[in-house]
Amino acid sequence: MAEDLQEFLTGLDAEIRAMGDWGAVADYIPELGRVAPDQFGIAVALPDGRVLTAGKAAQPFSIQSVSKVFALACVLGRIGEQLWLRVGREPSGDRFDSILLLEQEKGRPRNPFINAGALVVTDELLTGRTPRQALSEVLSFVRAAAEDDDIHIDKAVARSEAENGHRNTALAHYLRSFGNLNNPPEHTTGTYFHQCAIEMSCIQLARAGRSIAGLPNAPQMLSPRKARRINALMLTCGQYDGSGNFAFRVGLPAKSGVGGGLLIIAPGRASIAIWSPGLDGWGNSKMGTLAAEKLAEFTGWSVFG
Ligand code: GLN
Repeated sequence: MAEDLQEFLTGLDAEIRAMGDWGAVADYIPELGRVAPDQFGIAVALPDGRVLTAGKAAQPFSIQSVSKVFALACVLGRIGEQLWLRVGREPSGDRFDSILLLEQEKGRPRNPFINAGALVVTDELLTGRTPRQALSEVLSFVRAAAEDDDIHIDKAVARSEAENGHRNTALAHYLRSFGNLNNPPEHTTGTYFHQCAIEMSCIQLARAGRSIAGLPNAPQMLSPRKARRINALMLTCGQYDGSGNFAFRVGLPAKSGVGGGLLIIAPGRASIAIWSPGLDGWGNSKMGTLAAEKLAEFTGWSVFG
């Protein structure tokens, strides 16, 4: 099985590179706009401890919104159910950075993966902690989950977003006006921009997802119940307004980031990371989604059978 899968991954890398239909990199964060779109990497962590790879699987990239999964795991570990008083768990059907629903729903974001919801999660992470301590909690979680300390924050990306992140700044102030932000908005956005600027390779990210996939060799970071719930949120909200399309095409819980990363969970079977920086219209990796679709088809790992 692993041999067949390795052969498939090697072929998939060649196939994706031959297609050349990469999508466009996110340039609203200027530092991300400098990344070449024509790149692809994939890593699949298996229950026996092996990590199969193809393409640029060892190349670090900006995980961006994939970090929201790890921040959520930290906060659920700390305050559990109380989080849902501040943020919902329904898909939004709007862009990841939309402010629209926030007014209608009186400052309670639809889910923890759209930017407004992720800002609330990061704000919660800041309770009783300085921005530096909160950040170090997320980074430590990711390092422990991946069992790899060589994971760092790219400060140039964080700065680049801080200088241009007017929408997130607006969202944070808007949340604050509804009383759903406890910290000064610049503390919350500053922590959030740094959390998003964590750099990881596909190999590191696939390893970090093993606890969410419930793989037997994974470090114990989450109870099975929390892992199940994070998977449910990833399936319904992980690709923003493209979540239905992703469930239809791939059938697996996943979280995307505008750096072109994707963490995909095949519960009990594998933790998968794909990177291809060119994005589709929803802000999700274009070739990454196609590769995920082909992988799910080949393995039969869709949660829908
Ligand atoms: N840091 C980015 C932002 O807040 C993350 C968005 C994303 O990856 N979808 O805009």
